[in-house]
Amino acid sequence: MLPISFEFYPPKTDEQHAQFDRTVRKLKAYAPQFMSVTFGAGGSTLSHTPETVQRLRGEHGVTGVPHLTCVGGSREEIRTLLKLYRALGCDRIVALRGDLPSGMARSGDLRYANELVQLIRDEHGDHFHIEVAAYPETHPQADDAQADLRHFKAKVDAGASGAITQYFYNADAYFRFVEDARALGIDAPIVPGVMPIANFSQLRRFSEACGAEIPRWIAKRMQAHGDDAEAVREFAADVVAGLCRRLIDGGAPALHFYTLNLAKPTQSILQRL
Ligand code: FAD
Repeated sequence: MLPISFEFYPPKTDEQHAQFDRTVRKLKAYAPQFMSVTFGAGGSTLSHTPETVQRLRGEHGVTGVPHLTCVGGSREEIRTLLKLYRALGCDRIVALRGDLPSGMARSGDLRYANELVQLIRDEHGDHFHIEVAAYPETHPQADDAQADLRHFKAKVDAGASGAITQYFYNADAYFRFVEDARALGIDAPIVPGVMPIANFSQLRRFSEACGAEIPRWIAKRMQAHGDDAEAVREFAADVVAGLCRRLIDGGAPALHFYTLNLAKPTQSILQRL
């Protein structure tokens, strides 16, 4: 089996903390390379990422990896977080631009993720293994696919060690993206991000916002299963496990699962592999 990693969002309420701990305990059994924690764009004071990373590394004894976004933060806030993560023992980080919540006016000192990668390399040398985001189906704000690829290359040229992709359900989009990246001289590993399907209507909303396409045949089959929750779960796990198999057979270097802090949807896929 390839290396795998799991992504979480930082829990806030007591209930979310309990669910987070349960999920981490279950998914730890798959010996992931790391478990990463997202960071809400808009400034460090709004985020519970550092304490969640600390909890993963301390209580759970796994490699907790922080995401860091630059869009709403000042250089000083970013520097403070980087120092904190080093003090926690982190040597890996996922560096992103982020999206400001709608209505939030803060713009921050850095505009794009390549500037964040540059800042980390300038100030911390090779200490961090830096992962950036990549978009096999093209980032929704990019002028076109070629411009988006060039912007991805700028992140690698600034010092990114590898990339994790936005999720997708069309393996060919990933393979073509990797080919195009290689043709541009990008040789960093590009790890597919895999989104298990837990809640289809939520997935639809996410997908509209982030530009990921849900193939029509999947949507139609999901609809056909209607309220039969068991049939929906089985179908969803079969589809995503099939996608993972194609990615593995086609040479993906690892798989990164967006868990949404739930164990079951990811476990049902891993059990099928
Ligand atoms: P960038 O690489 O900066 O690109 C953003 C857009 O700007 C793209 O359209 C790109 O083509 C364009 N662009 C880049 N450089 C330039 C330039 N010089 N001139 C003009 N256009 C340019 N969001 C969060 O808020 N928190 C998280 O923890 C988080 N984790 C994520 C993890 C992964 C693996 C992925 C794939 C996404 C994650 N996101 C997260 C979402 C991400 O922040 C958004 O997709 C965001 O819109 C773009 O971030 P980026 O780092 O890809 O930005």
